Amino acid sequence: MEIREPERLTPVVGEADVIVVGSGPGGLSAAIAAARAGVSVILIERFGCFGGNITSVGVEGFAWYRHEKTIEAGGLSFEYEQRATESNAAVPESQSKSYELDSEGFKVVADNLVLKAGVRPMLHRAFCAPILDDDEIKGVITESKAGREAITGKIIIDATGDADVARRSGVKVFKNKKEDMISASIMFHMSGVNKEEFMNEIERDPQKYSDWSDKNWQVQTSGKEDDMFSPFLRKPFEKTKDSGLIDSDLQTISGTWGAIHDSGELTYLNLVHLNGIDGTDPESLTKGEIEGRKAALEAIAALKEYMPGCSAGKLRNFGMTIGIRDTYKIDSVYNLSDEDGKNECRFEDSVGIYPEFIDGFGVLVLPTTGRYMHIPYRSLLPKNIKGLLVVGRAIGGSNIAQAATRNMACCTVTGQGAGVAAAETIKNKTSLNSVNISNVQKLLSNQNVRFFNWEKYQ
Ligand SMILES: Cc1cc2nc3c(=O)[nH]c(=O)nc-3n(C[C@H](O)[C@H](O)[C@H](O)COP(=O)(O)OP(=O)(O)OC[C@H]3O[C@@H](n4cnc5c(N)ncnc54)[C@H](O)[C@@H]3O)c2cc1C
Repeated sequence: MEIREPERLTPVVGEADVIVVGSGPGGLSAAIAAARAGVSVILIERFGCFGGNITSVGVEGFAWYRHEKTIEAGGLSFEYEQRATESNAAVPESQSKSYELDSEGFKVVADNLVLKAGVRPMLHRAFCAPILDDDEIKGVITESKAGREAITGKIIIDATGDADVARRSGVKVFKNKKEDMISASIMFHMSGVNKEEFMNEIERDPQKYSDWSDKNWQVQTSGKEDDMFSPFLRKPFEKTKDSGLIDSDLQTISGTWGAIHDSGELTYLNLVHLNGIDGTDPESLTKGEIEGRKAALEAIAALKEYMPGCSAGKLRNFGMTIGIRDTYKIDSVYNLSDEDGKNECRFEDSVGIYPEFIDGFGVLVLPTTGRYMHIPYRSLLPKNIKGLLVVGRAIGGSNIAQAATRNMACCTVTGQGAGVAAAETIKNKTSLNSVNISNVQKLLSNQNVRFFNWEKYQ
């Protein structure tokens, strides 16, 4: 059954050169970069904080892939870690040469970056429809406690993670079948853990990346990862097999922890994996939230019983929403391929580099050798529409390419690239299709982004 909604007049409540929808690593970076490049920017977000998965899901491992020889992207991805560390909103991460962001503290770090850059913040507004004029997007309609409102701009950047704006504007998109998507997760954090006892156990029985694979979950590495330390937990859950503490299917509970704090907090517990959840279907999301929270409590019960240091531990908090890894990807002017992701692709229209870090669809490659890929501007540019760029995990690419580009530091590269490209397009009164890419690269370089000549920044 369908109903016809009445036509209505919608008030215009905002206007800016660039409108960014969604404020995860992709959107936050696009907004800050565009504002720093000298254009007016509005940043729209459906929740009450900026940061996307970092703050609303609790994904704190921003650069857990970083090792001695890793060649980094620089730019805002470096700045986020630096600002968070200065603001006491990051701690050393357990497996890498990086800092784990504090998902709560980063909310304020993001507020300050947005305000300082002069971006107009618009929280608590969900995008619901594009404003289209033939094949050009001119703005967006949002829904909020204030009802429907219009916000107009010269360039719109879709940073919703799910390509909401692109999709509803008629851009062609791709999505894996539900059963082939990377699993969703309910992320949680614990308090009351005895750090000394916990770390003694980790040191007594250190886990490796090769331990990720078992009969239920096969992860293909490049070989060099296998003997490296991983903060991985499966044994406490295996021990519950016969105890009845866990009734969920055992294969959905195991994974990594991020940091153990002096305060007894054990954070970024990425232990509950839910297969077959479609992050763009509210029925599926409802199921995932409820089943995931139940599984998280079972995981805590198992840790209390079988993981030294955890006996007095308790749930500190869940992420405020289920974590979604994989939904729509746009058909862009250039869709990255599996080979691009695996073989250090190089492009003339690069907006930045990303270290060779592939994590997803059964593959794990860590950037331990200094290899890196280029991110082409054309992968942010959807076909057959004017005025729109897409950033973050929805850019054009195959599954293996996405296993690299979905990572937060890479989403930052795409966001910063799009923000600067939008500013350059507006200032030179040109179009997104014909923007001068070497000017974009110069501006990005002024914003400390590495691309072709990264050696200069070492
Ligand atoms: C459980 C989990 C663990 C992960 N672990 C890691 C890790 O350790 N390291 C790593 O690098 N990556 C990790 N990832 C991947 C990474 O978090 C995401 O791929 C990345 O955050 C995507 O960034 P994004 O900017 O595209 O989107 P998101 O971070 O999803 O941000 C999208 C933003 O848009 C907002 N939004 C969405 N729709 C609308 C709308 N209609 N209107 C207004 N606002 C909207 C959302 O509220 C959100 O704030 C993990 C992901 C998950 C789910």
